[in-house]
Amino acid sequence: MTIHFSCTMCGRCCHGLRLPVGVEEAVAWLRDGGDVQLFCEAIPWPEEPPADNHLAWYKRRRSFAATSGQLPVRVIVSLMAIFEGACPNLQPDFRCGIYERRPRACRVYPAEVNPFFALDRDTKLCPPEAWRTQEVLQGDDGQWKDAEVAGAIVGMREADARDASVKARLCAILGISSSGLANEGVVVHAPVREDLLAALEQAVLSADGDAASTTWHVVSHRRATLDLLQSAGTAPLPASALNGSQASFMGFVAGDDA
Ligand code: SF4
Ligand code: SF4
Repeated sequence: MTIHFSCTMCGRCCHGLRLPVGVEEAVAWLRDGGDVQLFCEAIPWPEEPPADNHLAWYKRRRSFAATSGQLPVRVIVSLMAIFEGACPNLQPDFRCGIYERRPRACRVYPAEVNPFFALDRDTKLCPPEAWRTQEVLQGDDGQWKDAEVAGAIVGMREADARDASVKARLCAILGISSSGLANEGVVVHAPVREDLLAALEQAVLSADGDAASTTWHVVSHRRATLDLLQSAGTAPLPASALNGSQASFMGFVAGDDA
């Protein structure tokens, strides 16, 4: 299905967002005085997937190898620029104050970076009139027709892959080793801004290598999941154990307060 779209500059997508940013973008955001958090999720990875499992290889590309107890896992760390209310870069006339260097995610919206997600207009903040235009965002061949959007999507995917090893080192530097279980929830780590910036700069400069030698704890808010993780030989951790720390659990499904 062809998707028509033209931005009305309503500014809605510049409010109360968690904005996924690459490592370089996170450094810039922090240097500007903004806040960035780490959203961590783990995927059990007992063996490499078949070559034709394109979704698994997409996830593999943007994750790093680790272990949880006896089980190999792959950890996806998403760096999220966060702000309550209006983005600190949003000007009174709804223009972006850092337009030329705004994060790629801002250039992509409302398109989807993940090639396995279909764009769902109902989940987007854009007003109805934004979709009533002759301009084509996505053709019925699935291709993004807007050159800037298409370029930003490619850039985000490349940064995701490039940044995976940096994020492994970043977690090691910060002592971060807890994650949610993919599709169930994430552990949100919120280091102090200055600590995160220093750790990011160190992680970027460090030599490549396997920094993720510590075991990762897979956190859940569901007793059944914790039991399953235990039986699979992982190192499970109830979400309630994070209380009082710099980390918190964000569930995507209903939990039972384990
Ligand atoms: S950086 Fe600019 S485009 Fe991105 S959310 Fe902030 S104001 Fe909007
Ligand atoms: S919510 Fe949609 S229409 Fe409004 S500024 Fe953002 S991209 Fe443009």
